[in-house]
Parts: sequence; structure tokens; C-alpha cells
Amino acid sequence: MKTITLLVPVYNEESVLPQLFKRLDEFTKNTPNYQFEFLFINDGSTDKSFSIIAEQSKKDSRISYINLSRNFGKEIAMIAGIDHVKSDALVIIDADLQDPPELIQEMISYWEDGYDDVYARRNNRQRRNLASKKKTSQWYYRILQKSTNIPIQVDTGDFRLLDRRCIEALQKFRESQRNTKAIFSWIGYKKKEIFYNRDPRLAGQTKWNYRKLLNLAIDGITSFTTAPLRMATIFGFIISFIAFVWIIYLLVRPLFGVSTGAGYSSLMAVILFLGGVQLLSLGIIGEYVGRIFIETKNRPLYLIEEYHAGNIKKTRR
Ligand code: UDP
Ligand code: MG
Repeated sequence: MKTITLLVPVYNEESVLPQLFKRLDEFTKNTPNYQFEFLFINDGSTDKSFSIIAEQSKKDSRISYINLSRNFGKEIAMIAGIDHVKSDALVIIDADLQDPPELIQEMISYWEDGYDDVYARRNNRQRRNLASKKKTSQWYYRILQKSTNIPIQVDTGDFRLLDRRCIEALQKFRESQRNTKAIFSWIGYKKKEIFYNRDPRLAGQTKWNYRKLLNLAIDGITSFTTAPLRMATIFGFIISFIAFVWIIYLLVRPLFGVSTGAGYSSLMAVILFLGGVQLLSLGIIGEYVGRIFIETKNRPLYLIEEYHAGNIKKTRR
């Protein structure tokens, strides 16, 4: 019997966990031909999430859990889980039931057809302040896609099924500032897209706000592509070229009898503009230098307080 791990990152989800257990249990009952493991990653929850999971694991031997030493964020919680997957396949699913577990059956059937990465794409995005967030994210992905040759999947989250070989590939990515979505694209393999309607969050609060989203966006770009550095170079080049032509023009102009007038305001404009461009370029370089600084420290990605393995068998491969 093939084994499948459902990886659930959990951060303050006490209000949805009981429902989640029920839905997952129902789902596995309807999917009898596989052995399932539920791998919960408690990402430093400050509510009762962890004790609820630990309690449930006494009743249900399919449950494994990892208790991280503090809150590391979803990206790190996911790699902590991925490092501990022993099964033939892995499904990453949010705790808040925004990703319907029933869809996993469709994922499995494509997996059996030979696909390595079956990811769910949202038909609609029922976000709370929809319009503006949606537009921003559309723009963001368009820009990100322009900066790279690797195809990026839009309207796709982390809800996906990954074959063993994708899991092993993902385990090799040890960067600490992770953009998991981009890594999924990077690894390649045979991908299959399926569509679904994303449900609203069952209960509790989303952990995202504009500040966090902005940070994620900047991290996403700087960890994925060096295109902004290239842009700074090109922009600098264009401006110097224009300035050069301008200087020639200024030098030649008196020869034809046109007097060079006082130009305080135009001078200020140019200086301020160039100053801005320089600061921006410095900032971009700084972003990357900072990234190098963090990565060279080579810290562990996460620390585990407790790991409990359910009774899933290690895969044969
Ligand atoms: N999550 C996590 N660590 C965090 C923030 C979130 O493990 O620091 C988990 C959270 O419990 C949920 C999933 O990541 O299972 C998605 O979080 P959320 O629902 O807040 O994001 P959204 O669906 O609004 O994008
Ligand atoms: Mg959610």
C-alpha cells in the first residue's frame, strides 16, 4: 500500500483543529487504498493548538507532529515537515480548511498517472479586501514572471501533492529566506494543474497583513532573481548616456551663439533625480548583501522541541 503524508502547518488554529481532524478522517475513510499520515507542524502557537494535536495523537496513530521551538513562519514550518516525510507522496494543506481535503483524491489520481507535482489553482479568490489585494498580487506575479525564465504558477498556493522525488529535491534547498512557491517552480518535474474554489477560512484569523505581504513580496523577488541588480545597471547606463549627450549639447551650443543661461532649478532637478536613483540602487544592492550576510551565517533553519512519529512505515525507496 502506498503511503501519503498530509503536512499541516499550524499556528494558532485551536478553533479549527477539531473540524480539521473530522474532515481529514472522513477523507481518509473515502480513500481506502492508501495509508495516510497526518504530520502537524506546530509553528510556535501561543494558544492550545499544540495540546489539542498531542491529545488527538494519542487516539489516532496516523498523527505525527513536530513542535517547533518558536514561531518560524509557514515557509520554515513547511521545510521542517518536508525534512521528516517518509512516505511516497506528500500533500501540503492549510489547517484552516481553506483547501478542501476532498480535492486530494483528484490529486492522487493524477499522481497515479505519473505526475510528480499536482498543484491546485484557485478559481476565485475570496479574500476579505479582495479587489486591491488581488490586483496587487496580479501585478506582482507579472513582474516576477518577467524577471525569470522559470514558469511561475499564478493563483496557486502551497496546496499540492508532491511525489517522493520532489520531496527529495526540496530537502536539498537549505536557504533560510525561502520563497517556497518559487522553489516549487524551480524544481520542475512533471506538473499538473487542477482548479478548485478556495473556501473562506473556517474560523480564526488570517496571519497575513499588508506589512507581512510586502516583506514576502520583496523576499520573493530578492531570493529568486537578481533582475533588480541588472535593472539598476541598465538604468544607470541609460541615465549616464543621456547625461553624456546633454553635456556634449551644452558644450557645442555656445559655438552657435546660443548663450547658456542660469539653470538653478534644472540643476536641482537633475541632482535630486540622480540622488534618488543612486539611493535606490544602493538599497537594491543592500538587499542582496543583507541576504548574503544572513545566508553565510548558515544557521539551522528551525529547531525542534519535540518530534512524535505516528506509525507510518518508511517507504521502500
Ligand atoms: N501558518 C504557520 N505559521 C505562521 C503563519 C501561518 O504555520 O507563522 C499556517 C497557518 O496555521 C495555516 C497556514 O499557515 O495553516 C496558512 O495561514 P493563513 O490561513 O493565515 O494564510 P492565508 O490562508 O490567509 O493565506
Ligand atoms: Mg488561510
